[in-house]
Amino acid sequence: MSPSGSDDRVTILGAGLAGSLLAVFLARRGLGVEVLEKRADMRHEEIAGGRSINLALADRGIHALRAAGVMDRVEPLLTPMPGRMLHDQEGTLSFQKYGRRPEEINYSVSRADLNRVLMDAAEATECVSFRFGTAGEDLDLETGEVVLTDETSGESRRHPTRVVFAADGAGSPIRKALVRDCGVNASVEPLPHAYKELVIPAAADGTYRIEREALHIWPRGGYMLIALPNLDGSFTVTLFLAAEGDPSFASLTGEAQVRELFEEQFPDAMALIPDLMRDFFANPTGQLGTVRCDRWTDGAKAVLLGDAAHAVVPFHGQGMNCAFEDCVALDRLIGAQGEDWPVVFAAYESERKANADAIADMALENYVEMRDTVRDPIFHVRKTLEFLLEQRHPDRFIPRYSMVMFHEEIPYAEAKRRGEIQRKILEELTADETRADEVPLAAADALVRERLEPL
Ligand code: FAD
Repeated sequence: MSPSGSDDRVTILGAGLAGSLLAVFLARRGLGVEVLEKRADMRHEEIAGGRSINLALADRGIHALRAAGVMDRVEPLLTPMPGRMLHDQEGTLSFQKYGRRPEEINYSVSRADLNRVLMDAAEATECVSFRFGTAGEDLDLETGEVVLTDETSGESRRHPTRVVFAADGAGSPIRKALVRDCGVNASVEPLPHAYKELVIPAAADGTYRIEREALHIWPRGGYMLIALPNLDGSFTVTLFLAAEGDPSFASLTGEAQVRELFEEQFPDAMALIPDLMRDFFANPTGQLGTVRCDRWTDGAKAVLLGDAAHAVVPFHGQGMNCAFEDCVALDRLIGAQGEDWPVVFAAYESERKANADAIADMALENYVEMRDTVRDPIFHVRKTLEFLLEQRHPDRFIPRYSMVMFHEEIPYAEAKRRGEIQRKILEELTADETRADEVPLAAADALVRERLEPL
């Protein structure tokens, strides 16, 4: 407590992935931290209805976990996914590497396990305390108090704090308070597609029933199924499908409709999902959307991070990775500016906002690539050409996917800008060619040198 009797600690609202990692960073800077979380402690209770059981962790996230000193605890939780395994309607498989270099790998990780490791690491600093079953409802900017509700008793109380880091997810009440009281403009753009999680269990002997080291995709044009490996031999399968129309979650009203869709479109996957009907009708249908916000802070008391500031659709596997980058940026700025919160928050917002906007756009674009474009032969020609150009010009041409997933040193906005130039180069070079090895390399080299400055 300070001499005035107020609590010296800072508050983090939300003990999800971003909130828990930020707690580690802040504690390492010597700050006392209180984390308030709506749900029960997932380390002691099974949390029902969790979103996306596993996630793709990429370079940006790994960089953040290393910077926080927790990567050694996360490594045992990871399954490497060096590429995507495409399943066509006949069940024919084709594997595409994600990156050109062998170390360019994404990793599947259990959301809950990762979250638990981060909470444990935060607590181990002895500077962080978690209070569970405590929901933030509002922020009173005049008094600097967070209005809380105890989820068990239903009682409401006011929580005075120096500053609040709002890591309370896409529905953030703190963001809503900033909109109401500070003129912040925020939009939530729902995706007209939703998702449903299913399970491919491990084989009887505990082994994986499909290739373990891949992100599996069943692209079907307007919709798709994907599967990510878990450590126990199972895969978490996700159906992404329109909410309305035909086929859609609205049209899949009974077992007959679900069976028809899976028999026709995903017969090989269907054979691996024994509890398809039970999972389909018992599991919730998850909504997806993009949160955009023109400001992330009131300038003094509160700052948004992670999904609270910029929820994105999951098709680039970057929501968590981006949230972790927010934590790195805040940590670096606190290191440079100390607890001069207005300066830290302003610099953080100005550094991160354009990047969050860029990954939001790229994530939306990647949905079309994953569910549709990957089926087009020209896509594969361009992928081959991309790798060739990267090999010839590693300081200028890096495929956009690789910049986003494997190059944390390239900000998202820069990856998007360079990606646009590269897209045009690839389109020009393949306008008359249907094979990568027919593309005139001298012309390709000239275009790359002319249009892409060295990184
Ligand atoms: P959250 O994880 O939502 O955590 C918010 C926390 O705040 C929760 O613990 C919640 O209980 C708590 N909370 C909420 N409201 C309150 C309140 N009022 N008071 C107190 N606490 C509150 N990202 C990737 O990088 N790779 C992927 O492969 C990937 N796949 C995804 C697949 C799906 C289907 C979905 C939906 C998302 C995926 N994401 C992925 C995105 C990723 O899940 C999010 O970006 C990430 O969870 C954001 O972390 P966060 O801590 O900001 O928010």
